[in-house]
Amino acid sequence: MLSKMAMHSLRSPGSLRKLVASSTRMLSSTPKADTVRESASSTRREPCESASMMDIGTRRIFSEDHDIFRQTVRRFFQEEIVPYQEQILDVRKLPVASVCNCYVLHLMLHLSARSYSNCTGPGWALHSDIVMPYISHYGTKEQIDKFIPAMTAGKCIGALGMTEPGAGSDLQGIRTNAKKDGDDYILNGSKVFITNGYMSDLVVVVAVTNPQAKTAAHGISLFLVEEGMKGFIKGKKLKKMGLKAQDTAELFFEDVRLPKSALLGQENKGFYYLMNELPQERLLIGIMAIASCEFMFEETRKYVKERKAFGKTLSKLQVIQHKLAEIKTETAIGRAFMDQCLEIHNTRGLDSSTASMAKYWASDLQNKVADRCVQLHGGWGYMQEYGICRAYTDARVQPIYGGSNEIMKELIARQIVMD
Ligand SMILES: Cc1cc2nc3c(=O)[nH]c(=O)nc-3n(C[C@H](O)[C@H](O)[C@H](O)COP(=O)(O)OP(=O)(O)OC[C@H]3O[C@@H](n4cnc5c(N)ncnc54)[C@H](O)[C@@H]3O)c2cc1C
Repeated sequence: MLSKMAMHSLRSPGSLRKLVASSTRMLSSTPKADTVRESASSTRREPCESASMMDIGTRRIFSEDHDIFRQTVRRFFQEEIVPYQEQILDVRKLPVASVCNCYVLHLMLHLSARSYSNCTGPGWALHSDIVMPYISHYGTKEQIDKFIPAMTAGKCIGALGMTEPGAGSDLQGIRTNAKKDGDDYILNGSKVFITNGYMSDLVVVVAVTNPQAKTAAHGISLFLVEEGMKGFIKGKKLKKMGLKAQDTAELFFEDVRLPKSALLGQENKGFYYLMNELPQERLLIGIMAIASCEFMFEETRKYVKERKAFGKTLSKLQVIQHKLAEIKTETAIGRAFMDQCLEIHNTRGLDSSTASMAKYWASDLQNKVADRCVQLHGGWGYMQEYGICRAYTDARVQPIYGGSNEIMKELIARQIVMD
């Protein structure tokens, strides 16, 4: 039944959101809390010890409850998303599932399952794991009541507008501004590279509210801008190298009148909220990166065991074996650090420096692994019908967005040399 719904949804953009509700129901049948290292956990294998690095039942940070969730999510991706990847790459509006009612470890399992399916879309992570926390953490009761149920049901798709044509890494250089007019604000400016921007119903927009503040960071606020507001214009969908199942768009604000109730949190505290939420975004990128390494390793292992050259399979050649040994070892090291970060994030929250390490190191590794795995596939690795080809192009943006890896090193270094 779900498959029929998915098919129907993908053919008919207007009803795509139904898929959200179905996936939400499916994904929300999870245990009510993250339980780490339960009794059996000490005997659990790590991915590097298992037949496949993607095996369910592995990783000491998880329990049997998580395994059940992993099975459910993996089945969901295999049955509801993978068969429709081609359509998903083409449709104007994409289905977005919300997993906001999942706890941290469940959330990360969901993202890993997506990477194991080699699907980078729809843009669920941005909607439910990045935008929704802003509303639930800083929203008023009225804002939470208005948006969270609708977002959970997939009736309201979220986006986050920070980057501008002239300001990406240097967020303090943004020009979009909101000027007070009585109780209202008048918003002007533009944003670029906004994930889910084209299909968004609600955008958390970062804007300057006090240009005279002692530093730019002290004069920035967040606003909830809704589709249909006069002067809010969506630009074209940008054509990207990869991540084709997610839309990325330009947004324009021309004298958009925002009521006071559109302010998210306190005025001029926006930069502080961004700094609080960015570690989770960076951890998500790291989690997806390592899961993608595990996927690419398994794809390539399978390929070289089948592909013949010089009278034997590629896997019998020592040079190929050594390449696989390197990929597996580096991925296993990445997995150990990522699970450590997950455990910290689940218990006491990950600090900015550690989250930056996770994001930078894992996304760099993902690109190295992608490059080596395409090479091991030979010419077939360059063909789009092979999953490794898509994994390669999708990987490229990971060191760029969520704060570029150069900026991650700045954040790590800042903490190292702090007095
Ligand atoms: C597919 C995609 C999706 C995105 N989704 C979103 C989204 O949903 N919301 C959103 O707000 N943004 C989004 N972005 C924007 C993304 O976060 C920015 O592209 C990123 O922060 C880099 O900013 P920039 O492109 O302006 O590059 P720039 O800031 O111009 O940087 C260019 C280069 O210079 C380097 N650099 C800059 N400053 C320094 C420094 N101080 N030291 C050393 N090197 C430096 C950078 O690392 C980079 O290599 C997305 C981008 C892409 C490509």
